[in-house]
Amino acid sequence: MNYAYPRAAEIRAAKGAFINNEWVPVSTGRTVPVVAPAEGVVFAEIAASGPADVDLAVKAARAAYESGPWSQLNPIERGRLLQKLGRLILENIDELAALEARDCGKPMRLARGDVEAIARYFEFYGGAADKVHGEQIPFLNGYYVTGEREPLGVTGHIIPWNYPLQMMGRTLAPALAMGNATVLKPAEDACLAPLRVAELAAQAGFPPGAINVVPGLGHEAGAALSEHPGIDFISFTGSPQVGVMVQTAAAKNHVGCVLELGGKSPQIIFEDADLEAALPVVVAAIVQNSGQTCSAGARVLIQDSIWDKVTAELAKRFNALKTGLPEDNPDLGPVINAKQKRRIESFLERAKADNVPVIGQGSLHEKAPADGFYVLPTIYGPVPRDNPLACEEIFGPILAAMPFKDEADALALANGTEYGLVAGIWTTDTKRAVRLARKVRAGQVYINAYGAGGGIELPFGGVKKSGHGREKGFEALYEFSALKTIVMKH
Ligand code: NAD
Repeated sequence: MNYAYPRAAEIRAAKGAFINNEWVPVSTGRTVPVVAPAEGVVFAEIAASGPADVDLAVKAARAAYESGPWSQLNPIERGRLLQKLGRLILENIDELAALEARDCGKPMRLARGDVEAIARYFEFYGGAADKVHGEQIPFLNGYYVTGEREPLGVTGHIIPWNYPLQMMGRTLAPALAMGNATVLKPAEDACLAPLRVAELAAQAGFPPGAINVVPGLGHEAGAALSEHPGIDFISFTGSPQVGVMVQTAAAKNHVGCVLELGGKSPQIIFEDADLEAALPVVVAAIVQNSGQTCSAGARVLIQDSIWDKVTAELAKRFNALKTGLPEDNPDLGPVINAKQKRRIESFLERAKADNVPVIGQGSLHEKAPADGFYVLPTIYGPVPRDNPLACEEIFGPILAAMPFKDEADALALANGTEYGLVAGIWTTDTKRAVRLARKVRAGQVYINAYGAGGGIELPFGGVKKSGHGREKGFEALYEFSALKTIVMKH
């Protein structure tokens, strides 16, 4: 817990791009400063990879996929390597958690949980690498037909800054398990821990070219990767705007993509719900990671008969929240950068201008530095249904509370945004819960629980503006492979 992470006075220097298991100086000769959100100071720099570096990484992955030692490994051997990396990550948990906490501003306990999660991704997909079976397909007499899953080739991966380690594990582990060779473009705002994991992968014995990492700016390294004609698939997590660009580039290259683009996920509380179970989960689902979670429970829909009781209790819980420094393990840390803070504040200014009432609000820890990017956790309500607080993704610790009349009204409200990622239903009427779960437009629905993305074993992804394709669980193994039908006449 007490791993001393680097202070501003000892800036971690950029090492370059990680290609073929080596740090390679980047062609641009430039670096990008990395700011610690908790203090608003530069504490590291990363290399700014350009198109030439991305090209080098894609070629390294291609060679690894086509003819290098990586291509020679069978699924059992690949699985063992993935599991070995998972164990090595856990052995380095103190260092990785400190890096992640400093880079993202998240409380240390959350950062440690993220290290455990990436290790679990490599453990889970390591175990699954030799368990994706083909099928034998009945056909005409005299024919023998099989359907077999094969890797896609070189896969590109672009991840955001909110959970750098978890996102790295979520996207790379299933791709590697299926035998693809990978190029990762992590987010410029937070990627020090993923860069360290790339080194650990080499230490674990991953052959050169299996995992390549090109740090840098989105419009430069990210665009170069998504547009590169040498990739066979792209996995993107981030904003809907960039998601459209990535999908357009994939279409031009005639390759597939999986997009995970955020949400405005509702939690619906009926009058018969177990409030003692529901309310702590409702608060945690928006406060966790300062609301910077694609599947954050950003709206709480409350049956009007229990509105007063529930909002009074939520007010108490929000008023008790504290935001502060990662090492003090507050309820929540700062948001990622000054731009995100301003963006969130613009929603709050609009809410104020529209006279949307504040139900409850947390406070700043006395030790929180003045230059950190802190936003107070706040619950608003009743939020008018057309207010931006009710329908736009804020990506901050801001909860919109809205009353509803009955089941039909709850469903209309739940489905009333452009997004469809996760939903929570709180009721003791199981028939109603299942009925509603089937009608809510979301990739994951929780009943009397809420997982903000849920476990690694559970397929995850969205509908509508939340994106398409599924990650996690076995679904990710299908995303990162293609079915080939082999027809033999005998
Ligand atoms: P973003 O989409 O700009 O960045 C995500 C990743 O895409 C980063 O690695 C970035 O470098 C890269 N990128 C940026 N421009 C690119 C381009 N032209 N081509 C290819 N890659 C590019 O997201 P952001 O600016 O970090 O955050 C903005 C908003 O996105 C947030 O407010 C939030 O609503 C949403 N977001 C969603 C998630 C999620 O998990 N779904 C995560 C982070 C942000």
